[in-house]
Amino acid sequence: MPDTIILNGKELAQELNQTLAETIKNSGVTPLLAVITVGDNPASQVYVRNKRKAAQDVGIQTQEYHLNADTKQESIVALIQELNESEKVNAILLQLPVPEHLNPTVLIEAISPQKDVDGLTSYNAGGLLSGRQLFVPCTPRACLYLLQKALPTLDGLHAVILGRSALVGRPLASLLLQHNCTVTVAHSHSQHMSDILKTADIIISAAGKPGLLHKEDVKVGAAVIDVGINRLSDGKIVGDVLFLEMLNHAGCITPVPGGVGPLTVAMLLQNTWLATQRQKSGHTDIALL
Ligand code: NAD
Repeated sequence: MPDTIILNGKELAQELNQTLAETIKNSGVTPLLAVITVGDNPASQVYVRNKRKAAQDVGIQTQEYHLNADTKQESIVALIQELNESEKVNAILLQLPVPEHLNPTVLIEAISPQKDVDGLTSYNAGGLLSGRQLFVPCTPRACLYLLQKALPTLDGLHAVILGRSALVGRPLASLLLQHNCTVTVAHSHSQHMSDILKTADIIISAAGKPGLLHKEDVKVGAAVIDVGINRLSDGKIVGDVLFLEMLNHAGCITPVPGGVGPLTVAMLLQNTWLATQRQKSGHTDIALL
């Protein structure tokens, strides 16, 4: 039975943020991140508050646009275009989800790929497939960072991703392929899940289903990354993985909260700094972390 390593995303994020704060301070530049929220989704408000605080702590200025839930799509597109053209704005974040009457794809596509720090435009999503992305989406970047901290190499390992969303599962699959993993993407229609999971060296669960991953389905020593954020009826926040079961069974595991979440925010800050450096220097080839 292995001593399971608990990957402390909060601490790792603090380390990254501290280094970034020093770099930004020494540069004499103040990056500007524009954050657009539409409506009053309570979870989004919490996420935006966390992002604002983290940004301010590292010396990134935020400019927030809090729009009414009934704002017309054309007005939001016009705002995004204005922010694209502004020399002061280095990065643009559209907080998802948006209200039902809006088409998130249209809004995301309006963002300039050079300022798309969430990496969700088709330019960046397509670029990731060919290894020529400008930005990698923040949560997949956070997962990769955790895996690279935990494992000596990813080369040749079998990674099973639970979830195929454009935000997490799909970009993560491309990223892990770039790092020479053998990747299986499972989703709500997948069959023989238990058999697939048992062959995994790495499991990343991004299904948003509490209690989805049991010890019986996990190979001894496997790396388990829990992306899920689920609020239970008693208000408690849990991931998709039965965390306690995995102790002394998995090789390493991320807790929820305090795992992928804080690192996702740290990666947003990294991407914002990357966007700023590229815009100041005129070079688009400045490498990712
Ligand atoms: P989503 O609803 O868009 O996608 C969920 C995916 O899970 C779908 O592809 C679906 O097919 C798959 N799925 C559902 N049931 C499954 C099952 N039983 N087995 C395998 N796959 C299954 O959600 P999303 O935006 O990708 O987010 C997923 C989860 O990750 C949510 O809980 C979300 O809150 C969380 N999340 C966390 C962070 C973070 O920073 N930690 C960031 C983004 C999302």
